[in-house]
Amino acid sequence: MTTQLVWFRNDLRLADHAALIAAAAGGPLAALFVLDDDTPGHWRTGAAQRWWLHHSLASLSASIAARGGRLILRRGRAGPIVRALAGELGAEVHTLDHVEPWAREQVREAGATTHAGVTLAPVDSVLSGTGGRYRIFTPWWKKLLHQMPPPRPLGVPDMRWADVGHIASDDLASWRLLPTAPDWSGGFADWQPGEAGAGARLGEFAASAARYDAGRNLPAVEGTSRLSPHLAMGEVSINAAWHAIADAVGETVGEPWLRELGWRDFSANIVDQFPDHGDAPNRAAFARFPFRDDPEGLKAWQQGQTGYPVVDAGMRQLWATGWMHNRVRMITASFLVKHQLIDWRHGARWFWDCLVDADYASNSQGWQWVMGSGVDSSPFNRIFAPVGQSAKFAAADYIRRWVPELAGLPDDAIHAPWEAGVALLRAGVKLGRDYPAPIVDHNAARARALAAWAMVKAA
Ligand SMILES: Cc1cc2nc3c(=O)[nH]c(=O)nc-3n(C[C@H](O)[C@H](O)[C@H](O)COP(=O)(O)OP(=O)(O)OC[C@H]3O[C@@H](n4cnc5c(N)ncnc54)[C@H](O)[C@@H]3O)c2cc1C
Repeated sequence: MTTQLVWFRNDLRLADHAALIAAAAGGPLAALFVLDDDTPGHWRTGAAQRWWLHHSLASLSASIAARGGRLILRRGRAGPIVRALAGELGAEVHTLDHVEPWAREQVREAGATTHAGVTLAPVDSVLSGTGGRYRIFTPWWKKLLHQMPPPRPLGVPDMRWADVGHIASDDLASWRLLPTAPDWSGGFADWQPGEAGAGARLGEFAASAARYDAGRNLPAVEGTSRLSPHLAMGEVSINAAWHAIADAVGETVGEPWLRELGWRDFSANIVDQFPDHGDAPNRAAFARFPFRDDPEGLKAWQQGQTGYPVVDAGMRQLWATGWMHNRVRMITASFLVKHQLIDWRHGARWFWDCLVDADYASNSQGWQWVMGSGVDSSPFNRIFAPVGQSAKFAAADYIRRWVPELAGLPDDAIHAPWEAGVALLRAGVKLGRDYPAPIVDHNAARARALAAWAMVKAA
């Protein structure tokens, strides 16, 4: 029988993995992961996600070894590596269909067979009545629901392993995916990368999923699932995620959360139509946007030193834990592009490097949505007021956690310390010494952003 090579990519699990199931049914198995920083156009896995990848690969290797197999590790341009290994083994290659342009290029170069399993439905299967593709979420979601629920997740297939004892494999540690000097990963300790960790997280969230809609927008509470890094690395299948929550609370109560899974699919749908989604605005007019070159301002934003507490709290949470609450992602992203007029691509690349859940489609979609440059996006002239957002979504305790300099301020003063007067004195905080004064004035920044947008529209 022909050897079957299952090529894992960002789908590091054994359960409900269509490529593994097809390969296991076809003959003796070999398993491979390639660390690819070399395929042209590849958004090289960022530093935080490399930390995750190390642990997730260790976990997958151990699961495969426990079942008598061996995960082969290679590093370099994936397509030629996979093709050569398949030739050496006389194997057919199976992998899941990922939408990133470089992932598609890898498959072409490798000559692999792809299987659906990254999204709830194949991205090109959700079509309008006239057979066209959707670019706006709501009609797309309504149409996707015709195909929902997705198939129930399948388990781990029976696996018979090919003899790959003579095949060279890298040592995971030699890839140096973990930070060394300095080791900034201390705040990542609560994460549990790998398939078992993903299952545990899904189980915990299922028990509280009925409360999701009430708490999802409040950064101070643990109101969301925090499944994103597990989903980004494919440690749990999207179908398993859907069914776990639908079974726990029903599809009606679960709808607000299932809809968020929909945003993940929708973003993949947009990347399928705009492969350069992370590098070029969907709307051509935005190519003329007069962004400011402001390295100091960019650094202040990255380091959580803008003087706007909710922005700084978010950026520090991102740096410390590799994750940021969705509401705060919107506020911080909006601040960079609209208050600071800094190119959204700088922000997208920073998020990419810092997020453990970095996902090309969701990240690009998030940034283009905030910028207003996406086919489905918030209008540019909707400018988030960071102070208003912070108060509306009760971020006081969130700020206390991540901006401890301001912890002594009362709730009504903490969102805008420059207006806090006596409360600031009482808390012993001096702006410019203990915490920065705001780097821009909200009203002036708003007027500047709207003027920039008017120029673009008029050109
Ligand atoms: C500027 C910006 C950048 C972003 N970058 C990423 C990214 O790189 N990777 C990423 O997974 N998400 C990204 N998001 C979307 C969203 O912020 C995260 O998916 C969410 O905060 C993850 O937390 P959670 O797992 O607790 O989400 P939950 O609220 O529990 O949602 C469940 C799942 O649905 C998906 N999801 C939720 N919201 C979105 C969304 N708006 N778009 C796409 N999928 C969504 C995620 O897979 C998430 O795990 C970004 C959003 C913005 C505004």
